[in-house]
Amino acid sequence: HLPTAELQALDAAHHMHPFTTNDELAEKGARIITRADGIYLTDSEGNEILDAMAGLWCVNIGYGRDEIAEVAARQMRELPYYNTFFMTSHVPVIALAKKISELAPGDLNHVFFAGSGSEANDTNIRMVRHYWAEKGKPNKSVIISRHNAYHGSSVGSGSLGGMSGMHAQGGLPIPDIHHIEQPHWWAEGGDMDPEEFGVQRAKELEKAILELGEDRVAAFIAEPVQGAGGVIVPPASYWPEIQRICDNYEILLIADEVICGFGRTGNWFGSETMGIRPDIMTIAKGLSSGYAPIGGSVVSDEIASVIGGSEFNHGYTYSGHPVAAAVALENLRILEEENVITQVRDVTGPYLKEQWESLVDHPLVGEAKIVGMMGSIALVPNKNSRAPFSEAGTAGFICRERCFANNLVMRHVGDRMIISPPLVITTEEIDVLISRARLALDECYAELQK
Ligand code: PLP
Repeated sequence: HLPTAELQALDAAHHMHPFTTNDELAEKGARIITRADGIYLTDSEGNEILDAMAGLWCVNIGYGRDEIAEVAARQMRELPYYNTFFMTSHVPVIALAKKISELAPGDLNHVFFAGSGSEANDTNIRMVRHYWAEKGKPNKSVIISRHNAYHGSSVGSGSLGGMSGMHAQGGLPIPDIHHIEQPHWWAEGGDMDPEEFGVQRAKELEKAILELGEDRVAAFIAEPVQGAGGVIVPPASYWPEIQRICDNYEILLIADEVICGFGRTGNWFGSETMGIRPDIMTIAKGLSSGYAPIGGSVVSDEIASVIGGSEFNHGYTYSGHPVAAAVALENLRILEEENVITQVRDVTGPYLKEQWESLVDHPLVGEAKIVGMMGSIALVPNKNSRAPFSEAGTAGFICRERCFANNLVMRHVGDRMIISPPLVITTEEIDVLISRARLALDECYAELQK
């Protein structure tokens, strides 16, 4: 291929990147990734970079699995495309829907496919409103979500999300979406006991339902463990209280499992780890380990029977795409047959937890949180206080750059550093991850002292 500088110049000239400025691209040039294998990326300069983010929280089985390439090629030759509209179906989508129904908890036995998590959450908005209308309660249209949540970038899913920066662009949120506070004890709990704080934040849902009117609230959506908001692990008291409130007021509970699903938290779904009984789960990312774009809404018997009672005027050209479905199925086979999730729960997850939590002894780290294979550390100016840096995000940005310089991909959300490595990471590779993270923290600390 062309030399890196030429690729970067072409990229900056013609390729519009998500969440990136033109100046950044022109000044620094994008890092061009050319290959990947296992947990390592190779860039156009030949650097081998440990990907502690599994791409965007998605490459659960790791890179470079030939079996997936074989399945995709076979499916492309046999049936590269057909739709699932108007009474047609095909073998890969049938097999995948059956498999997901077997894996999903409770009576979540039905899947409406989409091309991504954003599309699936858009489906959810329409589906829960349609559900209540069909049940004779058309006023139940409000969906409650949380500030600082991320549920996707489309108009609907971006509205469900609680990212103010996204709402500011393009006139979001759409009507009848309401946001409550997140259960982020470290940043917002003050002197309160964490469990008391968890209950208090859950009760915000009840307060919102009573204020908006019980007859108007259709659903509550949240990630079992909030990912892009900064890997925010709720106090143990939070989810039981949320579940009680949803049950009590007949509010559908949507668990956004786009990150937490398919092993990330040490069980097939984050709902199991957090003890939740959702009515709907949003899935994407780890469903195919990112090898093909696919997402979906997994719904209960009751919801499927109501939605299918009349024609649901909704669907995507790529709903249940045969190649993506075949790839996802093969990915699930690998996760299952290679005991990847049990390994995370029993061996590598506990090992990573021990190593990750040891980072709190670093002068720059205030707290370290981790569930399964999603973790965060908070960078703070003073270890003896939870007070943030005065200029939020600077330390996080420097740390991310130092990680890159040490051939490690970690993400920063403000001043929280995030990891979400491929689930197949070994204990030896975890040692490499931690030692590179420590080096980056040391360099970041030194730079902040200047
Ligand atoms: N929901 C959650 C929790 C996510 O983290 C994301 C993406 O990061 C989405 C939904 C959107 O998924 P996609 O980017 O596939 O549209």
